[in-house]
Amino acid sequence: DIALYRAKAEGRGRAVLFRMEHEAGLRERRRIEAELLVAMEAGQLYLAYQPKFSLASGRVKGCEALLRWQHPERGLISPGVFVPVAEETGLIHPITRLVLELACRQAMAWRAEGLEMPVAVNLSAGHFGAEQGVRLVEEALASTGCDPALLEVEVTEGVFLRSTEAASRSFRALRAMGVRVALDDFGTGYSSLSYLQHLPFDVIKVDRAFIAGLDEPGSTGIGPGRRIVDAIVRLAHGLGAEVVAEGVEKPGQLAVLRELGCDHVQGFLLGRPMPAEALAELAQRAPDAKLACSAA
Ligand code: C2E
Ligand code: MG
Ligand code: MG
Ligand code: MG
Repeated sequence: DIALYRAKAEGRGRAVLFRMEHEAGLRERRRIEAELLVAMEAGQLYLAYQPKFSLASGRVKGCEALLRWQHPERGLISPGVFVPVAEETGLIHPITRLVLELACRQAMAWRAEGLEMPVAVNLSAGHFGAEQGVRLVEEALASTGCDPALLEVEVTEGVFLRSTEAASRSFRALRAMGVRVALDDFGTGYSSLSYLQHLPFDVIKVDRAFIAGLDEPGSTGIGPGRRIVDAIVRLAHGLGAEVVAEGVEKPGQLAVLRELGCDHVQGFLLGRPMPAEALAELAQRAPDAKLACSAA
Protein backbone atom coordinates (compact mmCIF):
# COMPACT_ATOMS: atom_id res chain seq x y z
CA ASP A 1 0.00 0.00 0.00
CA ILE A 2 0.97 3.61 -0.44
CA ALA A 3 2.02 4.35 3.13
CA LEU A 4 4.28 1.32 3.22
CA TYR A 5 5.73 2.16 -0.20
CA ARG A 6 6.48 5.72 0.96
CA ALA A 7 8.15 4.51 4.14
CA LYS A 8 10.33 2.13 2.14
CA ALA A 9 11.30 4.78 -0.38
CA GLU A 10 12.10 7.16 2.41
CA GLY A 11 14.18 4.52 4.14
CA ARG A 12 16.15 3.90 0.96
CA GLY A 13 16.60 7.63 0.52
CA ARG A 14 17.97 7.95 4.00
CA ALA A 15 20.31 5.03 3.49
CA VAL A 16 21.69 6.62 0.32
CA LEU A 17 22.05 9.98 2.05
CA PHE A 18 23.77 8.34 4.99
CA ARG A 19 26.20 6.53 2.69
CA MET A 20 26.98 9.76 0.84
CA GLU A 21 27.64 11.60 4.09
CA HIS A 22 29.73 8.74 5.32
CA GLU A 23 31.82 8.72 2.15
CA ALA A 24 32.24 12.49 2.22
CA GLY A 25 33.36 12.15 5.83
CA LEU A 26 35.89 9.47 4.92
CA ARG A 27 37.24 11.54 2.02
CA GLU A 28 37.60 14.53 4.30
CA ARG A 29 39.45 12.48 6.90
CA ARG A 30 41.80 10.99 4.33
CA ARG A 31 42.51 14.47 3.03
CA ILE A 32 43.29 15.79 6.53
CA GLU A 33 45.46 12.77 7.22
CA ALA A 34 47.41 13.24 3.99
CA GLU A 35 47.90 16.96 4.53
CA LEU A 36 48.72 17.03 8.24
CA LEU A 37 52.26 15.77 7.97
CA VAL A 38 53.02 18.29 5.22
CA ALA A 39 51.38 20.98 7.34
CA MET A 40 53.69 20.20 10.26
CA GLU A 41 56.76 20.40 8.10
CA ALA A 42 55.60 23.55 6.34
CA GLY A 43 55.01 25.32 9.67
CA GLN A 44 51.25 25.61 9.19
CA LEU A 45 50.67 24.39 12.76
CA TYR A 46 51.18 26.97 15.49
CA LEU A 47 49.94 27.80 18.98
CA ALA A 48 47.52 30.45 20.18
CA TYR A 49 47.58 31.32 23.89
CA GLN A 50 44.47 31.96 25.97
CA PRO A 51 44.93 33.78 29.30
CA LYS A 52 43.80 32.38 32.64
CA PHE A 53 43.06 35.01 35.26
CA SER A 54 43.19 34.87 39.03
CA LEU A 55 39.78 35.83 40.41
CA ALA A 56 41.43 37.30 43.50
CA SER A 57 43.92 39.62 41.80
CA GLY A 58 42.34 40.09 38.38
CA ARG A 59 45.74 39.36 36.83
CA VAL A 60 46.83 36.84 34.21
CA LYS A 61 48.20 33.81 36.09
CA GLY A 62 49.03 31.57 33.18
CA CYS A 63 47.76 30.49 29.80
CA GLU A 64 46.58 27.54 27.74
CA ALA A 65 48.32 26.70 24.47
CA LEU A 66 45.75 25.86 21.77
CA LEU A 67 46.77 24.33 18.48
CA ARG A 68 45.91 26.06 15.20
CA TRP A 69 46.23 24.94 11.58
CA GLN A 70 46.51 27.72 9.05
CA HIS A 71 45.75 25.86 5.82
CA PRO A 72 46.96 27.63 2.64
CA GLU A 73 43.64 27.15 0.78
CA ARG A 74 41.09 26.28 3.42
CA GLY A 75 42.03 28.88 6.03
CA LEU A 76 42.01 28.19 9.75
CA ILE A 77 41.09 24.61 10.67
CA SER A 78 39.90 23.93 14.22
CA PRO A 79 41.65 21.37 16.45
CA GLY A 80 38.20 19.91 17.05
CA VAL A 81 38.37 18.79 13.40
CA PHE A 82 41.95 17.64 12.92
CA VAL A 83 43.03 16.45 16.39
CA PRO A 84 40.63 13.45 16.33
CA VAL A 85 41.99 12.44 12.90
CA ALA A 86 45.55 12.80 14.19
CA GLU A 87 44.64 10.64 17.19
CA GLU A 88 43.30 7.85 15.01
CA THR A 89 46.22 7.83 12.61
CA GLY A 90 49.03 8.10 15.14
CA LEU A 91 50.07 11.51 13.82
CA ILE A 92 49.18 12.87 17.23
CA HIS A 93 52.55 11.67 18.49
CA PRO A 94 54.74 14.01 16.39
CA ILE A 95 52.11 16.73 16.76
CA THR A 96 52.24 16.54 20.56
CA ARG A 97 56.03 16.62 20.38
CA LEU A 98 55.82 19.82 18.32
CA VAL A 99 53.20 21.40 20.61
CA LEU A 100 55.24 20.66 23.75
CA GLU A 101 58.40 22.07 22.22
CA LEU A 102 56.72 25.26 21.02
CA ALA A 103 55.04 25.77 24.41
CA CYS A 104 58.25 25.14 26.38
CA ARG A 105 60.28 27.48 24.16
CA GLN A 106 57.63 30.18 24.51
CA ALA A 107 57.52 29.90 28.31
CA MET A 108 61.32 30.20 28.45
CA ALA A 109 61.30 33.14 26.01
CA TRP A 110 58.79 34.92 28.25
CA ARG A 111 60.94 34.22 31.30
CA ALA A 112 63.94 35.70 29.50
CA GLU A 113 61.83 38.87 29.02
CA GLY A 114 61.05 38.88 32.75
CA LEU A 115 57.57 37.40 32.43
CA GLU A 116 56.65 34.31 34.51
CA MET A 117 53.88 32.72 32.47
CA PRO A 118 53.16 29.02 33.04
CA VAL A 119 51.79 27.34 29.90
CA ALA A 120 49.23 24.51 29.90
CA VAL A 121 49.37 22.02 27.04
CA ASN A 122 46.55 19.64 26.04
CA LEU A 123 47.66 16.02 25.85
CA SER A 124 45.51 13.33 24.24
CA ALA A 125 44.21 10.65 26.58
CA GLY A 126 45.74 8.05 24.24
CA HIS A 127 49.23 9.12 25.33
CA PHE A 128 48.61 7.72 28.79
CA GLY A 129 47.89 4.10 27.96
CA ALA A 130 51.60 3.28 28.14
CA GLU A 131 53.27 6.36 29.57
CA GLN A 132 54.26 7.84 26.19
CA GLY A 133 52.85 11.07 27.55
CA VAL A 134 55.49 11.15 30.25
CA ARG A 135 58.27 10.44 27.76
CA LEU A 136 57.08 13.19 25.40
CA VAL A 137 57.09 15.69 28.26
CA GLU A 138 60.54 14.60 29.45
CA GLU A 139 61.95 14.94 25.95
CA ALA A 140 60.47 18.39 25.45
CA LEU A 141 61.83 19.62 28.80
CA ALA A 142 65.26 18.20 27.98
CA SER A 143 65.47 19.52 24.43
CA THR A 144 64.29 23.03 25.33
CA GLY A 145 65.81 23.35 28.82
CA CYS A 146 62.40 24.48 30.04
CA ASP A 147 61.78 24.74 33.80
CA PRO A 148 59.10 22.09 34.61
CA ALA A 149 57.45 24.64 36.88
CA LEU A 150 56.45 26.55 33.73
CA LEU A 151 54.60 23.57 32.25
CA GLU A 152 51.15 22.23 33.02
CA VAL A 153 49.48 19.30 31.27
CA GLU A 154 45.72 19.14 30.62
CA VAL A 155 44.14 15.72 30.17
CA THR A 156 40.45 14.83 29.92
CA GLU A 157 38.75 12.17 32.01
CA GLY A 158 38.89 9.96 28.91
CA VAL A 159 42.27 8.92 30.26
CA PHE A 160 40.60 6.81 32.96
CA LEU A 161 38.36 4.93 30.57
CA ARG A 162 41.54 3.31 29.23
CA SER A 163 43.57 2.45 32.28
CA THR A 164 43.31 4.13 35.63
CA GLU A 165 46.53 2.48 36.71
CA ALA A 166 48.62 3.66 33.77
CA ALA A 167 47.12 7.14 34.07
CA SER A 168 47.84 7.26 37.76
CA ARG A 169 51.47 6.17 37.22
CA SER A 170 51.87 8.81 34.49
CA PHE A 171 50.40 11.57 36.64
CA ARG A 172 52.70 10.66 39.51
CA ALA A 173 55.72 10.71 37.20
CA LEU A 174 54.77 14.11 35.77
CA ARG A 175 54.28 15.61 39.22
CA ALA A 176 57.56 14.12 40.42
CA MET A 177 59.20 16.01 37.54
CA GLY A 178 57.56 19.22 38.78
CA VAL A 179 54.94 19.44 36.01
CA ARG A 180 51.40 20.26 37.09
CA VAL A 181 48.49 18.08 36.02
CA ALA A 182 45.00 19.41 35.25
CA LEU A 183 41.79 17.45 34.61
CA ASP A 184 40.20 19.11 31.57
CA ASP A 185 36.49 19.34 30.72
CA PHE A 186 35.70 18.04 34.19
CA GLY A 187 32.27 16.54 34.66
CA THR A 188 31.55 15.65 31.02
CA GLY A 189 33.64 12.50 30.54
CA TYR A 190 31.18 9.74 31.50
CA SER A 191 33.64 8.59 34.12
CA SER A 192 32.94 7.76 37.73
CA LEU A 193 34.15 9.80 40.65
CA SER A 194 36.01 6.83 42.08
CA TYR A 195 39.10 7.50 40.00
CA LEU A 196 39.65 10.76 41.89
CA GLN A 197 40.52 8.65 44.90
CA HIS A 198 43.54 7.10 43.22
CA LEU A 199 44.70 10.02 41.24
CA PRO A 200 47.17 12.77 41.93
CA PHE A 201 46.29 16.03 40.18
CA ASP A 202 46.73 19.75 40.81
CA VAL A 203 43.89 21.43 38.96
CA ILE A 204 40.28 20.74 37.97
CA LYS A 205 38.96 22.63 34.94
CA VAL A 206 35.19 22.88 35.17
CA ASP A 207 33.72 22.33 31.72
CA ARG A 208 32.06 25.30 30.11
CA ALA A 209 28.76 23.39 29.91
CA PHE A 210 28.41 24.00 33.67
CA ILE A 211 29.57 27.61 33.48
CA ALA A 212 26.94 28.37 30.83
CA GLY A 213 24.29 27.31 33.37
CA LEU A 214 25.49 29.83 35.93
CA ASP A 215 23.56 32.82 34.72
CA GLU A 216 20.29 31.08 34.01
CA PRO A 217 17.36 32.41 36.08
CA GLY A 218 17.83 29.95 38.95
CA SER A 219 21.48 30.80 39.39
CA THR A 220 20.96 33.88 41.54
CA GLY A 221 19.07 31.66 43.93
CA ILE A 222 19.94 27.99 44.34
CA GLY A 223 19.51 26.70 40.75
CA PRO A 224 20.98 23.35 39.69
CA GLY A 225 23.83 24.84 37.61
CA ARG A 226 25.11 26.76 40.57
CA ARG A 227 24.78 23.79 42.90
CA ILE A 228 26.84 21.60 40.59
CA VAL A 229 29.67 24.13 40.26
CA ASP A 230 29.52 24.71 44.02
CA ALA A 231 29.95 20.97 44.59
CA ILE A 232 32.85 20.71 42.11
CA VAL A 233 34.67 23.63 43.75
CA ARG A 234 34.27 22.07 47.22
CA LEU A 235 35.33 18.67 45.94
CA ALA A 236 38.45 20.09 44.26
CA HIS A 237 39.45 22.16 47.27
CA GLY A 238 38.78 19.22 49.58
CA LEU A 239 41.24 17.20 47.50
CA GLY A 240 43.82 19.98 47.59
CA ALA A 241 43.35 21.02 43.95
CA GLU A 242 42.76 24.42 42.37
CA VAL A 243 39.73 25.19 40.23
CA VAL A 244 39.64 26.86 36.81
CA ALA A 245 36.30 27.78 35.25
CA GLU A 246 36.39 27.39 31.45
CA GLY A 247 34.27 29.23 28.91
CA VAL A 248 33.36 32.30 30.94
CA GLU A 249 31.42 34.53 28.53
CA LYS A 250 29.22 36.74 30.73
CA PRO A 251 29.88 39.10 33.62
CA GLY A 252 27.08 37.46 35.64
CA GLN A 253 29.02 34.20 35.61
CA LEU A 254 32.07 35.91 37.14
CA ALA A 255 30.09 37.14 40.11
CA VAL A 256 28.72 33.66 40.85
CA LEU A 257 32.15 32.03 40.41
CA ARG A 258 33.64 34.50 42.85
CA GLU A 259 30.95 33.72 45.41
CA LEU A 260 31.58 30.00 45.02
CA GLY A 261 35.31 30.43 45.67
CA CYS A 262 36.58 29.45 42.23
CA ASP A 263 40.33 30.23 41.87
CA HIS A 264 40.86 31.01 38.19
CA VAL A 265 38.77 31.95 35.18
CA GLN A 266 39.26 31.57 31.44
CA GLY A 267 36.92 32.54 28.63
CA PHE A 268 36.06 34.81 25.73
CA LEU A 269 34.79 37.49 28.16
CA LEU A 270 38.34 37.98 29.45
CA GLY A 271 40.51 36.96 26.52
CA ARG A 272 40.37 34.81 23.41
CA PRO A 273 43.24 32.60 22.27
CA MET A 274 45.82 35.08 20.89
CA PRO A 275 49.41 35.36 19.62
CA ALA A 276 52.20 35.16 22.21
CA GLU A 277 53.07 38.87 21.89
CA ALA A 278 49.48 39.94 22.57
CA LEU A 279 49.35 37.73 25.65
CA ALA A 280 52.57 39.21 27.02
CA GLU A 281 51.14 42.67 26.52
CA LEU A 282 47.89 41.73 28.27
CA ALA A 283 49.77 40.20 31.22
CA GLN A 284 51.68 43.42 31.80
CA ARG A 285 48.57 45.55 31.90
CA ALA A 286 46.65 46.51 35.06
CA PRO A 287 44.18 43.93 36.44
CA ASP A 288 41.16 43.34 34.19
CA ALA A 289 38.42 45.86 35.00
CA LYS A 290 35.67 43.25 34.70
CA LEU A 291 37.35 41.25 37.45
CA ALA A 292 38.00 44.32 39.59
CA CYS A 293 34.30 45.23 39.18
CA SER A 294 32.95 41.91 40.29
CA ALA A 295 35.29 42.03 43.31
CA ALA A 296 33.57 45.19 44.55
P1 C2E B 1 39.91 22.44 25.53
O1 C2E B 1 41.27 22.01 25.96
O2 C2E B 1 38.80 22.24 26.49
O3 C2E B 1 40.09 23.99 25.16
C1 C2E B 1 39.12 24.96 25.35
C2 C2E B 1 38.40 25.28 24.07
O4 C2E B 1 37.34 26.18 24.37
C3 C2E B 1 39.27 25.99 23.03
O5 C2E B 1 38.79 25.63 21.74
C4 C2E B 1 38.97 27.46 23.32
O6 C2E B 1 39.21 28.32 22.22
C5 C2E B 1 37.50 27.38 23.64
N1 C2E B 1 37.04 28.47 24.48
C6 C2E B 1 37.74 29.18 25.40
N2 C2E B 1 36.97 30.11 26.00
C7 C2E B 1 35.73 29.98 25.47
C8 C2E B 1 34.49 30.67 25.68
O7 C2E B 1 34.36 31.59 26.49
N3 C2E B 1 33.42 30.24 24.95
C9 C2E B 1 33.52 29.21 24.04
N4 C2E B 1 32.43 28.89 23.35
N5 C2E B 1 34.68 28.56 23.82
C10 C2E B 1 35.77 28.93 24.53
P2 C2E B 1 39.76 25.15 20.58
O8 C2E B 1 41.01 25.96 20.58
O9 C2E B 1 38.95 25.08 19.33
O10 C2E B 1 40.16 23.69 21.04
C11 C2E B 1 39.19 22.67 21.12
C12 C2E B 1 39.76 21.43 21.74
O11 C2E B 1 40.80 20.88 20.92
C13 C2E B 1 40.45 21.67 23.09
O12 C2E B 1 39.49 21.72 24.13
C14 C2E B 1 41.35 20.46 23.18
O13 C2E B 1 40.62 19.35 23.64
C15 C2E B 1 41.73 20.23 21.74
N6 C2E B 1 43.08 20.78 21.50
C16 C2E B 1 43.47 22.06 21.28
N7 C2E B 1 44.81 22.16 21.15
C17 C2E B 1 45.29 20.90 21.30
C18 C2E B 1 46.61 20.32 21.30
O14 C2E B 1 47.63 21.00 21.16
N8 C2E B 1 46.69 18.96 21.48
C19 C2E B 1 45.58 18.18 21.68
N9 C2E B 1 45.76 16.87 21.85
N10 C2E B 1 44.34 18.68 21.70
C20 C2E B 1 44.20 20.03 21.53
MG1 MG C 1 42.34 22.27 27.62
MG1 MG D 1 38.44 22.16 28.38
MG1 MG E 1 37.55 20.21 25.25
